[in-house]
Amino acid sequence: MSFDTLGLSEKVLQAVAASGYTEPTAIQKGAIPYVIEGRDVLGIAQTGTGKTASFTLPMLTKLEKGRARSRMPRTLILEPTRELAAQVQENFEKYGVNHKLNVALLIGGVSFGDQDKKIDRGADVLIATPGRLLDHVERGKLLLQGVEILVIDEADRMLDMGFIPDIERICKLIPFTRQTLFFSATMPPEIQRLTETFLQNPAKVEVSTRSSTSSTITQYLVATGGEDYEKRQTLRDLLAQAEDLQNAIVFCNRKVDVATLFRSLERHGFNVGALHGDMDQRTRMTMLDNFRKGNLKLLVASDVAARGLDIPDVSHVFNFDVPIHAEDYVHRIGRTGRAGRTGVSYTLVSGDDAKYLAAIEKVISKTIDWLGEPLDFEAAIAERKERRKAARAGGGDKPKRGPLRERTPRVRETTEDAGEAPRRERTRKPRVEAPAEDRATEMRQPREEAQPRQPRPQRDRAPRRDRGQDHDEPVIGLGDHVPAFLLRDPRAKKAS
Ligand code: AMP
Repeated sequence: MSFDTLGLSEKVLQAVAASGYTEPTAIQKGAIPYVIEGRDVLGIAQTGTGKTASFTLPMLTKLEKGRARSRMPRTLILEPTRELAAQVQENFEKYGVNHKLNVALLIGGVSFGDQDKKIDRGADVLIATPGRLLDHVERGKLLLQGVEILVIDEADRMLDMGFIPDIERICKLIPFTRQTLFFSATMPPEIQRLTETFLQNPAKVEVSTRSSTSSTITQYLVATGGEDYEKRQTLRDLLAQAEDLQNAIVFCNRKVDVATLFRSLERHGFNVGALHGDMDQRTRMTMLDNFRKGNLKLLVASDVAARGLDIPDVSHVFNFDVPIHAEDYVHRIGRTGRAGRTGVSYTLVSGDDAKYLAAIEKVISKTIDWLGEPLDFEAAIAERKERRKAARAGGGDKPKRGPLRERTPRVRETTEDAGEAPRRERTRKPRVEAPAEDRATEMRQPREEAQPRQPRPQRDRAPRRDRGQDHDEPVIGLGDHVPAFLLRDPRAKKAS
């Protein structure tokens, strides 16, 4: 089947051909004709299925008729995170090369001024995160009465992030006569209720369920010690040994661990970037861009920051931590093996992880192979118990991480991605630094040819007890740097 039969305009078909796509994906085949027809659509599909083009292409076709009025956008796309919103904008730029449309992006972390100007000019397409959109509405700068098409993307993610009340408010501000396109990877009851309230006789298009992992991904479990330094060593060993490693995303459960692992990998000479919700918007976009272009080989990321990212060519995914929520596993490893390509994922598993691993294997309905010896969970737990006992008996430092401690439910990143107030981390995991060790891999870059320094993720708030090989000498006074104004002779006359 080709794109010609879906009812798309000539201009759109040309842009699709220029993108190199020859055949529509399942969600595109299913949804595009309904969108063109003017029907509401309920699309059950995850990212990586070509979902974005399934609404941008027919929207472009429909937008060829009519024009935008000041402060009254014609179409509105709601996205849960800034990154996703920016990706949809890129899609409009790519597929809309033959159109002269005004596309406005309203996301948090960016000044209102420029966004106001774009709205004033009249937007054909408005792409927004819910919080920022409502800010504009409340400031009286934006009217939603002219919206003809409303897209709610990644609805289950919106639910996770607490945006459903905002979505309900926004839906009520848009005329009932609109066309609504609603996408979600899963259909929990709250989402079901939302679709019943805000969609009219929708055409349902379902292409895959989130509980399935692609058959093009080879998945491995890797046994590791539970201390952070042991896990970092295991990761470095894997990075050195992994075959055909082009680039990789390394997932951590918490943003504080993203920052620590990023620094550690950087110290070990890896060509690495980081992505988490505490980083400002510009830094995140630059980081992502560098990763997409191949300037960065590794990206350490948290779930929220990485959700739905369109990075087509990731060869490997590493789970530095076993995800606490089993469905995050599916999302994480779904960053590789996309669009029919092959991919490999490695999940580091320590003694604490038995129940999380069992939950994942239940969700994906299969057992994951071990790379090397499977972890003997009981032995791993007993060993850490012993170590703790020995440390106590020796009067040494307490082990930095309790052996049998239940993994504290950690506060994960939540709404900050969309510019909302971040929730504070409630738990801190004490850390142990291991002596660094040098092993060359192609992932590493020599320090002297290191790229322009990556902006560092936000620092841990508590002081670090042990900085491993990172010996920063205390700086006395101004150190080597004396500001120029102190060197100036105070009596010197001003030049006239
Ligand atoms: P999405 O699910 O929208 O995040 O898209 C995932 C990836 O598939 C993106 O890199 C798209 O550029 C790509 N893509 C979308 N439609 C097609 C298609 N018909 N053929 C090949 N790749 C596509």
